[in-house]
Amino acid sequence: MPSPDDAQQILETVFGYASFRPSQQEIVDCLIAGQDALVLMPTGGGKSLCFQIPSMIRPGVGIVVSPLIALMQDQVLALRQQGVAAAALNSSLAQEEARQIQQQLLKGELALLYVAPERLMTDSFQSLLRRIDIALFAIDEAHCVSQWGHDFRPEYIQLSSLHEDFPRVPRIALTATADEPTRREIIQRLNLSDAQHFISGFDRPNIRYRVASDNSNTRQQLLRFIQLEYPQQAGIVYCLSRRKVEETAAWLREQGITALPYHAGLSQQVRAENQNRFLREEGIIIVATIAFGMGIDKPDVRFVVHMNLPKSLEAYYQETGRAGRDGQTAEALLFYNLQDVITLRQFVEQSDADELHKRIETQKLEHMLGYCELTSCRRQALLAYFGDEMAEPCGNCDTCLEPPKTWDGTVAAQKALSCVHHTGQRFGVNYLIDVLLGKDNERIRSFGHKRITTWGIGKELSQKQWRSLFRQLIAQGYLAVDQEGHGGLHLTESCRPLLRGEQTLLLREESKVSKKTARKGKRSYTGQNVQLWEALRKKRLELAEEQGVPPYVVFHDATLMAMMEYHPRDMNQMSRISGVGSHKLEAYGQAFLNVLAEYDDEPATDTVSESVTLFRCGFGVEEIAKRRELKPSTVYSHLAKGIEQGQVALHEVVLLEPEKIHEIQNMMLEQEDGIRLGPVYEALGEKVEYGVLTCIRAALNQ
Ligand code: ADP
Ligand code: ZN
Repeated sequence: MPSPDDAQQILETVFGYASFRPSQQEIVDCLIAGQDALVLMPTGGGKSLCFQIPSMIRPGVGIVVSPLIALMQDQVLALRQQGVAAAALNSSLAQEEARQIQQQLLKGELALLYVAPERLMTDSFQSLLRRIDIALFAIDEAHCVSQWGHDFRPEYIQLSSLHEDFPRVPRIALTATADEPTRREIIQRLNLSDAQHFISGFDRPNIRYRVASDNSNTRQQLLRFIQLEYPQQAGIVYCLSRRKVEETAAWLREQGITALPYHAGLSQQVRAENQNRFLREEGIIIVATIAFGMGIDKPDVRFVVHMNLPKSLEAYYQETGRAGRDGQTAEALLFYNLQDVITLRQFVEQSDADELHKRIETQKLEHMLGYCELTSCRRQALLAYFGDEMAEPCGNCDTCLEPPKTWDGTVAAQKALSCVHHTGQRFGVNYLIDVLLGKDNERIRSFGHKRITTWGIGKELSQKQWRSLFRQLIAQGYLAVDQEGHGGLHLTESCRPLLRGEQTLLLREESKVSKKTARKGKRSYTGQNVQLWEALRKKRLELAEEQGVPPYVVFHDATLMAMMEYHPRDMNQMSRISGVGSHKLEAYGQAFLNVLAEYDDEPATDTVSESVTLFRCGFGVEEIAKRRELKPSTVYSHLAKGIEQGQVALHEVVLLEPEKIHEIQNMMLEQEDGIRLGPVYEALGEKVEYGVLTCIRAALNQ
């Protein structure tokens, strides 16, 4: 019978991770026990392990249904790097390749097989499935079954029959994007009412949300943001129009930044090339319309910038969600200004959608604008919008980090509104501001607006402040934009109480991309550290290119950072780095050790003595591992050193009977060519942990 211990073992040796994240453990246990699961977990939450590990433990192959060929291939590449027998069957394969995979299946050689839904449901594939053992069915991106969602895939509907055809095979459906109605639809369509539900919130705590409003020079700010905060990092910059994409990309390139355009107007070939470079090279910035992103699973996108206001919070959340899938710090920066508000309002007004749709669009835009103008925690508001409560402000958004100042804008707003009224409710912002500031120009004279009461009554504010005020009045719905598209403003019903003085209006003072909120020191590698970081990345790129895989398939950033932090000096220490499983250790360990050795003149952090001290304070191995975020096996190896040096006694660490310990030591000593733990481990029926064996051996060396 497979057991949860096996799962832990695989997590450590194959994937190189110390512990499961909370819900992962439960999901893995559920599947190993043969039960169905419905999993809602945010992007980057670690969904893949939930079905990969049970597939490797249960007899037979795990069949993974995935809608996008690119995602499939990425996962298969990553698994192979870890030494897992995985393959993908899809339309991009040649017949011969497909036939080979079928052979492997029949021989039971695969742990995981990724297939496109349309392939899965063909008669020939179904009959193939009947001839093999199946560990489980994983239905990835399960929201594709929902007709209401934006990614509906008709082939997904047929997946319901898996349950009838293979009633004993556990199924797991996974998604990151399911609201309540979609969730119900998934359960119903996939027959998952008996499944255990694992619902995590949608929070992406590693993403920092920032909004910079009314910026005069967004390009410069973008440049500074990239250069100062994310030099040499991968990121996505979204623009509303193709032209702006082209211009922004070209301008960034002139400034020495590798920025590539991506939009539907480019040829298929150019798009594929740019996307490929983004995936395969380091530190590439893609400047794109929203056409870019679907199916991009690059884990180390460090930032997503919106140069224009997205049209809904749904779009915003989805697009910003492409940052930081690897769980490392990442950032979502939105530039937002008066002109965007006007343009988007006009889009909605002028669209030829029916009234209902217009109303929905308007509401969505309302929410988006409300989000931009927030003076409270942005994450709380975002999550609340998607139905997730968050008790405390997050501490990782611009309004939390630097609470915006507000001012009482009631009187100024009254002046602005009455200026709109007295000029006949047809002029745009620039003209209105000129009137308020008492400008004396041709246009104002020709309309006779020097004589109205609001001419020159707003000199206490600057033009910039007026722009910000108008923006907030439009965003909050006191002013509406004309339908003809000239940007003329008129009053709405809701401004009455404000004009009558029955309501006060608190407005936010403007923010630039603030220095304080900037993630300074985030990668505060200085001097030699910067060089080491670059050297590690260079090695990674080299290894990736040799094999034609993206760099993150070799190691994630998090793993390189752990190497910098712990500075392993031998293969044993390297094996303890999070993300270094046994297969990658063998393939790449030495190459990275060589790089590290060149930068090795700092004293080793005394990690052994820290574990030993904690142990002597009464903490158990598990507790020390948790506290220090190490694998238990790592802590055991520290304690083994402690045993060798006489700081800890073997019987304090290892709670086996003395006779048993004696027996094991005898087994070790009987080995002829030095003590190797593997055979002992096997001879003991794999019942005594490696870590424990390490300690027992250490006592022999004492
Ligand atoms: P999702 O499919 O939910 O977006 P992934 O399965 O791609 O997420 O995992 C996101 C990242 O987290 C990956 O880099 C993965 O290797 C890492 N990860 C997953 N589980 C763990 C774990 N238990 N410990 C450390 N890292 C993990
Ligand atoms: Zn916050």
